[in-house]
Amino acid sequence: MIQVKNLYKVYQVGDTKVYALNGVDFTIYKGEFCAIVGPSGSGKSTLLNMMAGLEKPSKGEIVIAGNHIEKLSENQLVAFRRKHVGFIFQSYNLIKTLNAVENVALPLSFRGVPRKVRNEKAKQYIKLVGLEKQMNHMANEMSGGQQQRVGIARALAVDPKIIFADEPTGNLDSKTTKEVLNLMQKIVKEQNQTLVMVTHDNYIAKFADRQFHIVDGKIFKIEEQHHEDTEGDKEHVQS
Ligand code: ATP
Ligand code: MG
Repeated sequence: MIQVKNLYKVYQVGDTKVYALNGVDFTIYKGEFCAIVGPSGSGKSTLLNMMAGLEKPSKGEIVIAGNHIEKLSENQLVAFRRKHVGFIFQSYNLIKTLNAVENVALPLSFRGVPRKVRNEKAKQYIKLVGLEKQMNHMANEMSGGQQQRVGIARALAVDPKIIFADEPTGNLDSKTTKEVLNLMQKIVKEQNQTLVMVTHDNYIAKFADRQFHIVDGKIFKIEEQHHEDTEGDKEHVQS
């Protein structure tokens, strides 16, 4: 369970204060797929980064599996993320000098998975995201969409209890978007993982069980999705 309570993030830019988050409250339950949806600059990445402990809030609480994230030290946060969290970054954050398989295998090596096992697992996830042919490509020898899929494989391969995904399909065409979202939906349901996905796209948000609509750092609406009614909508996903 993820509890966010009265969360604020204020940035000082020159003489002005930017309220990136302006009092956010919600609870996400284990096994849920939630989307945080809103326009550019509404605070989505800020909120996600704070839940993953990548940034400190100005005020408020984030409680994940009993841990107060905002109170953890940098070392405790590293340990917490290794144990519980997979993160898909808006800007991929791949290691340029490693190939696709090596990028996916890296977090497994941090977790002490033996070389042979982690390479097999990395290959398996690279195949899942449809990159069998690009397996040996270095990060900078792949298109944006391919790098994005490596980032998704990397997050999923460690079997995290929670996956935070920032615009995970932002650089994919509509067909690949649908495939990747269906795949993520399937994997997280099978493994009872919690998925929190940020998107600016209302159609993509409909893949989630619940949508949190955010504007100007405030959640103004929480919408529940009944998936059996929305198959038609999913056909209209835009790239
Ligand atoms: P996008 O869809 O474009 O990625 P977003 O919803 O993820 O947008 P955030 O990156 O969370 O938006 O930014 C929210 C607000 O906080 C914006 O007004 C942004 O300018 C501001 N902001 C974000 N990071 C910083 C920072 N390091 N310093 C100052 N202001 C920041
Ligand atoms: Mg963002």
